[in-house]
Amino acid sequence: MSHDFVYTANPARILFGPGSLARIADEVRLLGCRRALVLSTSSRREDAERLNAQLGELGAGVFSGAVMHTPVHVTEQAMAAFEDAAADCVVALGGGSTIGLGKAIAYRNDAPQVVVATTYAGSEVTPILGQTENGLKTTVKGAAILPEVVIYDAELTLGLPLATSVTSGLNAMAHALEGLYAKDRNPLTGLIAMEGLRSLKQALPAIVERPRELQARSDALYGAWLCGTVLGSVGMALHHKLCHTLGGSFDLPHAETHAILLPHTAAYNAQAAAEVLAPAASLFGGELGGGLYDFAGSLGAPLALAALGLRESDLDKAADLAASNPYWNPRPIERDAIRELLQRAWSGARPR
Ligand code: NAD
Repeated sequence: MSHDFVYTANPARILFGPGSLARIADEVRLLGCRRALVLSTSSRREDAERLNAQLGELGAGVFSGAVMHTPVHVTEQAMAAFEDAAADCVVALGGGSTIGLGKAIAYRNDAPQVVVATTYAGSEVTPILGQTENGLKTTVKGAAILPEVVIYDAELTLGLPLATSVTSGLNAMAHALEGLYAKDRNPLTGLIAMEGLRSLKQALPAIVERPRELQARSDALYGAWLCGTVLGSVGMALHHKLCHTLGGSFDLPHAETHAILLPHTAAYNAQAAAEVLAPAASLFGGELGGGLYDFAGSLGAPLALAALGLRESDLDKAADLAASNPYWNPRPIERDAIRELLQRAWSGARPR
């Protein structure tokens, strides 16, 4: 194999390990900050209040209005809370929704970010921010968006609901799979992607059996970090574009949409990217799309877009949208083949 690549690493400080949340005050101080606004979703407000108290004099208060897809009007409220609290940094406690809000603040005022990641979505290690305004989702990228410090404490994930754990874990695996065939991939992202896939492949069935087992949770979080790192380093293709289209235009939930589409998008690209996908295919029994479908099914993951509320009559429009905006993919984007892929994913059929 000949090597020819450019690799830019994302600078970030990662603290990984059960109990690592205890070190958060030191991390805030190391950043040179003195007043941290703690962010969360409304359902995690109590945890955020506890964290604010744990920060002692460094805690500047809680803003618990984070929601999915980072609406700009919520960011504006959070910016006002940041100023009212005289904060000089943010601590985001949660998954991609909360982390997105922290990134949106930092994008506007360059506030340092400490992230305590509690799902497997991976946003904490990417310099990418997706935000929505007037029903339109746009993506921006930049150094200010990348969080400075990430704390991965698996103890905080023991109560992540099982269904969310499974779909979020499959969401993470999608980053790694698309990273394997990314146009701008490099040897390091390939190694990271395979380690991430192996770790989640082992961890997710264990979590289904024993959701509160710390070792399985730690393995899943480790895999999520690796898969997120791939997402932050290389460009994504069909799978992420399709999920973006379905999330943005039909308001489908993020992790579930990823989980359902992954076997189908992997099958779509399996032949065109056979060489680089070979290690992943062998991890899933030789046939990547079918293997992923069986794996997702064995975890009890949703398999049909119909179950998320997408109407069959929307499939033509979704296929048109996915094919209308050209982007790189190992196999050319063929409108009719995408329509067929969507039909199978809608009904929950095994990919071909
Ligand atoms: P989420 O952050 O919305 O979390 C899902 C739910 O789980 C929320 O209600 C949350 O409060 C709850 N939760 C989170 N951690 C918990 C825990 N440990 N215990 C119990 N409940 C917990 O969902 P997500 O899938 O993590 O993130 C989705 C969002 O992130 C989307 O908006 C997506 O676009 C974005 N995202 C962005 C990137 C990026 O690189 N920019 C990457 C991945 C996802």
